[in-house]
Amino acid sequence: MATLKKIGFIGTGIMGAAMAGHLMDAGFEVSVYNRTKSKADELIKKGAKWCGTPAQCSRGQDVIISMVGYPKDVEQIYLGDDGIIVNAKAGAYIIDMTTSSPTLAEKIYNEAKVRDVHAIDAPVTGGDTGAKNATLTIFVGGDEADFKALAPIFNAIGKNIVYLGTAGSGQKAKIANQIALAGSLAGACEAFAYSKSAGLDIDKVFASISTGSAGSKQMTDIVKRGLDGNFDPGFMIKHLAKDLAIGTETSMIYGTSLPILALVLHELRKMESEGHGNEGTQSLLKYYDVK
Ligand code: NAP
Repeated sequence: MATLKKIGFIGTGIMGAAMAGHLMDAGFEVSVYNRTKSKADELIKKGAKWCGTPAQCSRGQDVIISMVGYPKDVEQIYLGDDGIIVNAKAGAYIIDMTTSSPTLAEKIYNEAKVRDVHAIDAPVTGGDTGAKNATLTIFVGGDEADFKALAPIFNAIGKNIVYLGTAGSGQKAKIANQIALAGSLAGACEAFAYSKSAGLDIDKVFASISTGSAGSKQMTDIVKRGLDGNFDPGFMIKHLAKDLAIGTETSMIYGTSLPILALVLHELRKMESEGHGNEGTQSLLKYYDVK
């Protein structure tokens, strides 16, 4: 198998910029493309090559990685004439790390296979901090041989890297992660809403409950930012709403009932409609009038 050296990286936002930076540090030759060029400036300063389109960022690369926002963005950059699949060289690996639809991941896999391109879905969890520290958990779907071949790439950005099965399995596991996260996030917000209405000092409640059985990463790493008055993203409200909408759609196909997901999605949609979509998920505290 040829050595993987050249990477095209599309989507240099909160997560992608940090991930592409680690790949450069690991010695890969990285070319970048992002819809808003200024978000790639730091990487370009560091030595990344700028590409003007997804096609330019795909041609001649050993690996093409995407970390964009929504399934519609994934569809746009992969499929179609200016897209990744028709412009990737035969034998290239294409890895979508966006949290996206499992069905779309299967479609990309099938279209890529016809052109002898190896498609992998590999969404992540661990947040902006995990991306900065290269400690992400990576959920991988696709062919197992491709997963093994891509180990040097995954090891440069993540710590817990799990192969889940055929194309789309990585996305399915990521959505399961988001379902658990949604309950944990809303539960923490609700605990502080209760504490406030009961007349307790919220900082003292946090100090007491965050280290016990009710403590969670959502409470300590995310909700605490909001309790301290910081609503910058991290992980945006609009992206969690997108993930839970994918969960709703796919759970209907699989025949599972997810009442907590439905409730939290309703809360997030309300937050989005009130203009909080680009804030971090800790802004859910505002839904409960804690902040
Ligand atoms: P983000 O900051 O919005 O980054 C996404 C980037 O992709 C943006 O810079 C955006 O460009 C670019 N983009 C979108 N569509 C594009 C297109 N068609 N062509 C080229 N560039 C495009 O979001 P993020 O927080 O990094 O999240 C990225 C993905 O990872 C999302 O699916 C999210 O759900 C998932 N995720 C996020 C976290 C987290 O903690 N942040 C954790 C795990 C997973 P613009 O700059 O023009 O908007």
